[in-house]
Amino acid sequence: MANHLVLGILNGDDIGHEIVPAAVAVTKAAAGRTGLEIDWRPMPIGRSALDSEGSTFPEGTIEALMKMDGFILGPIGHQAYPKVAGAINPHPILRKRFNLFANVRPTRSYPGLGAIYDDIDLVIVRENNEGFQPDRNVVAGSGEFRPTEEMTISVRVITRLGSSRVARAAFEIAQQRKKRLTLVHKNTVFKLGCGMFVEECHRVAKEFPDVTVDEVIVDTMAMRLIRDPQSFDVIVTTNMFGDILTDEAAGLVGGLGMAPGLCIGEGAIAMAQATHGSAPDIAGKGIANPFAMIESARMMVEWLGHNRKLPQAVQAATIMEKAITAALADPATRTRDIRGTGGTSHMTNGILRHISG
Ligand code: ATP
Repeated sequence: MANHLVLGILNGDDIGHEIVPAAVAVTKAAAGRTGLEIDWRPMPIGRSALDSEGSTFPEGTIEALMKMDGFILGPIGHQAYPKVAGAINPHPILRKRFNLFANVRPTRSYPGLGAIYDDIDLVIVRENNEGFQPDRNVVAGSGEFRPTEEMTISVRVITRLGSSRVARAAFEIAQQRKKRLTLVHKNTVFKLGCGMFVEECHRVAKEFPDVTVDEVIVDTMAMRLIRDPQSFDVIVTTNMFGDILTDEAAGLVGGLGMAPGLCIGEGAIAMAQATHGSAPDIAGKGIANPFAMIESARMMVEWLGHNRKLPQAVQAATIMEKAITAALADPATRTRDIRGTGGTSHMTNGILRHISG
């Protein structure tokens, strides 16, 4: 299917209705510049789908997604869903159903945003489908249960397969970058769980002899991300550690609005999903930072370009990158959370102007 992508649009909740259209507009404009054809398919999901179709994740959505190359998923505000049967959190289902086992989360500084550092460029690859997250580490029931009123047990799942495939995804990224990969874990305490993760990472390392591997214990990593984040390039870790470290890393470069993400698996489909939540506190005000969502879409287009061998997609991603960087350099086309004077539309329009350039 040369020169053609089918991409879903799932707005999600709250600020998703503002930042997902921004990401689509920017991707469309860049694709238009390179001749990349994209067949966009808006799909219902989230609170608005509950109101219109009786479910936050209607049956038809997942079937339709199965025929696509990728999709943009806006943030989901499931904590605010009413307690009714059709109100479910689609995240774990999507990640599991499409086997999106690697969550690739870059942290990059752009100068002038008033961030703690101006020189960070690292990627955290977080295992996405097992670990401590009780809503996704079992196929039925929950990985957390309460045998008595006085006791709760949370189960952490680590498998050889889950560990080796996220490790391989991280090694592949490391190979494209500085050929350095840091394994983050706590096998000093979780001797079996983290122990298995580390064993599998080292097993996969043999396939990538040109990548240098080191290890950092997770609590030390939390400290070193603050002290010397520049000494890291690609980091791979288990689900919960990755969840926490990626938010910490976002804090170093301007906050959650600067934290994009791409969920990938065995290559059938990619999901662009920003790290942040649906930010109900700022929804509808036109002030949400669209960077994370736009950059997540850019990562998806670039990844699909390489994966589907579509040079026009890779080119479109390069155009987006340049336009995003140029818009971020001007306070008038940045949002206020990153020392700008504009809102979501100023930033989006600024990027669009640089694309049409
Ligand atoms: P979740 O648990 O779903 O990840 P959360 O509880 O971590 O969500 P968020 O919705 O991510 O919370 O919001 C945390 C804070 O970051 C809020 O104050 C919110 O306004 C801010 N924030 C999140 N995303 C953005 C954004 N794109 N632009 C500006 N501020 C944001």
